Amino acid sequence: MHCRKVLELLPKFIENDFSEEERAAVEAHLKECEECRLEFEAMGRLVDTLESIPPIGVPSSFKEAVMRALPAKKPPGEK
Ligand SMILES: [Zn+2]
Repeated sequence: MHCRKVLELLPKFIENDFSEEERAAVEAHLKECEECRLEFEAMGRLVDTLESIPPIGVPSSFKEAVMRALPAKKPPGEK
């Protein structure tokens, strides 16, 4: 498998959105190709970072408006 193909598949790899064959091929390539491995690790870190950032930029008044618009039931617990 070529690096270019691996790099195309990496985003899907991170989202677990591809077949066993593709996964095995990418994993095999990552073991042998440091360049792609570094790219993969960088992407993985990026995803971790994005997921660890709390949602910001939503004004509390917007949140309250959404809560009011929802059917009357307890809002989900804060995380
Ligand atoms: Zn490679």
